Amino acid sequence: MSSTILVVEDEPAIQELIAVNLSFAGHKVLRAYDADQAATLINAELPDLILLDWMLPGASGLTLARRLRSDERTRDVPVIMLTAKGAEQDKVDGLEAGADDYITKPFSPKELIARIKAVLRRRAPQLTDDVIDVGGLRLDPVTHRLNGHDQPLSIGPTEFKLLHFFMTHPERVFSRAQLLDQVWGDHVFVEERTVDVHIRRLRRALEPSGHDVLIETVRGSGYRFTARPSAR
Ligand code: CA
Repeated sequence: MSSTILVVEDEPAIQELIAVNLSFAGHKVLRAYDADQAATLINAELPDLILLDWMLPGASGLTLARRLRSDERTRDVPVIMLTAKGAEQDKVDGLEAGADDYITKPFSPKELIARIKAVLRRRAPQLTDDVIDVGGLRLDPVTHRLNGHDQPLSIGPTEFKLLHFFMTHPERVFSRAQLLDQVWGDHVFVEERTVDVHIRRLRRALEPSGHDVLIETVRGSGYRFTARPSAR
């Protein structure tokens, strides 16, 4: 599991400790000392998760969390707040402001990594390395292997990523723009019809085992991965 994690923490020693442990766990780490720096970094690259200290110089972590939740671009980025020991009200306020979880200082690196993994599994399962199996279609993010009814299927890297996203978000309709954001990356300027090209390739890759029917076109809306394909 490799994700881009933004650490917003003004105490250099703690920031360093967190960054080292996250890097060691295979994550890409972005660092900010305050809300302004965080905003600049987020503007350049949308992180997969944000670790946000409560007490920051200038705007507080809570203020930043609220801002992130009210902005459409950052609304869905998971946030874990770092709070001081015993500050019970901080936890409540943080969760109300839209944080997904909180970690009380001091914390062990092990706890930090475990919390991050749990939040990502819940909020961004396409970033975890869990094997997914839907109706005999089995995708392994670690080995990048795809099997349909135990037969290996040949699939390109973009189609693999697209399928991984679909399989971790079944039964939901995604527009072309949403798929571009999620699979190709935010701030990447690709035409929407590119999505259609890759959907076609994905269906072709799934055809040998008959799993192509799981990728449904929803007219006027986009595409959906379903475990219950409608008859056609
Ligand atoms: Ca602090």
